[in-house]
Amino acid sequence: MDTNAGAYVGLTAHGRYEEAYALLRRRNPFASVCGRVCAAPCETVCRRAVVDAPIKIRAIKRFVNQRVGIESGRSFERISEIVERPRPRATDAGSVAIVGAGPAGLACAHDLALMGHEVTVFDAAPVAGGMMRLGIPEHRLPRAVLQAEIEFIEFLGVEIRLGAEIGRNVLFEQLAQDYGAVFVAVGCRKDAQLGIPGAELDGVLTAVNFLAHINIGIPMEVGERVVVIGAGNVAYDVARTAQRFGAVAPLERERHLLALEAAFVAARVLGRKVTIVTLESRAEMPADPSQIEEGIREGILLANRRAPKAILSDRGHVRGLQTLTVRRLFDAQHRFAPELVEGSEEEFPCDTVITAIGQIADLSFLGPDHGLAVTPESTIRVDSQTLATSRTGVFAGGDVAFGPRIVIEAVADGRRAALSIDTLLTGRADEPSATCYRTFSTFGYEHPFALGDYEKVPPRRVPLIPIENRTLRAEVESDLDEADARAEGSRCLHCWVEPVFHVGQPSGSECITCGGCADVCPQDCLSLVSRPSSDGSGTPAVVVLLDDSTCIRCGLCARRCPTAVITMRASYEQGEVDLVRMADQVF
Ligand SMILES: Cc1cc2nc3c(=O)[nH]c(=O)nc-3n(C[C@H](O)[C@H](O)[C@H](O)COP(=O)(O)OP(=O)(O)OC[C@H]3O[C@@H](n4cnc5c(N)ncnc54)[C@H](O)[C@@H]3O)c2cc1C
Repeated sequence: MDTNAGAYVGLTAHGRYEEAYALLRRRNPFASVCGRVCAAPCETVCRRAVVDAPIKIRAIKRFVNQRVGIESGRSFERISEIVERPRPRATDAGSVAIVGAGPAGLACAHDLALMGHEVTVFDAAPVAGGMMRLGIPEHRLPRAVLQAEIEFIEFLGVEIRLGAEIGRNVLFEQLAQDYGAVFVAVGCRKDAQLGIPGAELDGVLTAVNFLAHINIGIPMEVGERVVVIGAGNVAYDVARTAQRFGAVAPLERERHLLALEAAFVAARVLGRKVTIVTLESRAEMPADPSQIEEGIREGILLANRRAPKAILSDRGHVRGLQTLTVRRLFDAQHRFAPELVEGSEEEFPCDTVITAIGQIADLSFLGPDHGLAVTPESTIRVDSQTLATSRTGVFAGGDVAFGPRIVIEAVADGRRAALSIDTLLTGRADEPSATCYRTFSTFGYEHPFALGDYEKVPPRRVPLIPIENRTLRAEVESDLDEADARAEGSRCLHCWVEPVFHVGQPSGSECITCGGCADVCPQDCLSLVSRPSSDGSGTPAVVVLLDDSTCIRCGLCARRCPTAVITMRASYEQGEVDLVRMADQVF
């Protein structure tokens, strides 16, 4: 998404929530959703992990959203003022049709509306949000949060037509003819099928179908003993939802959720059993370790290294899952090649099996002769930068173009498609945002953003609600309080500020190789190394090496340098002026 996470984390630490919100929301109309469920690729690469643990960027984002964002109850006008005002209507440019009201489709609609375009979004489902609404369970993403973000997009003038399935109610060809551009963002809503005997039995459900039903309130019968097959996050969403859902007889829709809550309590009292069966060992499972741990705490059993062999039946209904031991999962070249142990059959008695082994795109809605190139994985082939398909005027993005991914990537695709569509319809192209630099004076240098001994501040914990309060709807994670959010933000190492070593003269640097910088470095990330001369004089040269991965940007090397060869420099994007304003106020 190219959002400087460190920048809004730093602004939060300084209590500058509105500026932090402007930054984090600038390119992400689903900032509040991401504050709850983002897979947080930024935390995976956060350099603070080198010191102790990554910054809890998602939790900080959630805190800021609640303080000043869409969840804070501020009016949409005010949010619009903080984030971005729509441009005047683009006249005669032609309107845009978007197929799919998931994060990719809605983010595209949001950005196009800001650019002044007329946009209509079509979605087959009775609710907007795509997998944010149909897939992600309510115990991780409260529906009010999602709904508020969707309403903001409507406030910008986007029309969302629900229950409008392209290929059934409206033909794709019709859209392509009637609109100036079409963005296809239908996701991957088909479950991959488990090709083992018994997969067609009564009592076998598929994950996306199961969750979509539960999430829109259509009752499903789930037995007392449930086996979920799969090892990823979806398998956990299914398992944790199945446990909350319990066994209920079909009910009228409006009483459904209330009935689920009652059924959950009954299930706990009666000791409902949910088991996840995976090919992988626990360490090999792709699901988030936190999901696995929370699942175990909630009583979900885990059977690792078991391969499904057959689903067993009793008069046409599921009675168990037969499995074999997996001796090893990958071959010597690390390719996925499970090796099973013959004769190691083990049965898991159950009355419901839910398969969660992957999702694929369903392109049947396009009809014949659609003119779009399709990949061998059945996704729509696109140019990875512009998201243009092989048909002029048609763009595609999100899961239907790249296979199952995560919300933030779908949002980024929506933005990319909006920029391409705007260019197609108006001929204009926004200048890419330039990187700016700000060099701080060396003598007397003080870190412009750091607060106290930031490298010593311990990580804060995100609070979780007690197990006994975990019902179908109750959100498991709760908020950081203000003190913890600011303390967590203050742990940031400010990667956008870095020491720069000036070579300066053509003959070399003014560095006198005194070694003072290496002496004062608290991280031992600077070292002086001699190397053979390059000018043929025979005098060995000395070079200063910086291990950037462990540098904590304290600036002590710059302060210590007697010849001002080392300076500290901040890099930021044009739109991140708040960051620099903050530095200016500190100086
Ligand atoms: C159970 C589950 C849990 C997940 N958890 C997380 C998580 O915690 N964090 C995270 O970042 N990501 C998560 N993801 C992934 C994330 O939800 C998806 O990557 C993302 O929603 C994809 O966005 P999209 O817009 O491409 O498609 P989708 O969100 O799938 O939206 C596609 C929309 O198109 C509509 N549609 C389909 N066909 C048609 C048609 N013919 N006509 C009209 N409309 C149509 C569908 O109804 C749907 O609303 C999860 C996914 C699942 C399934």
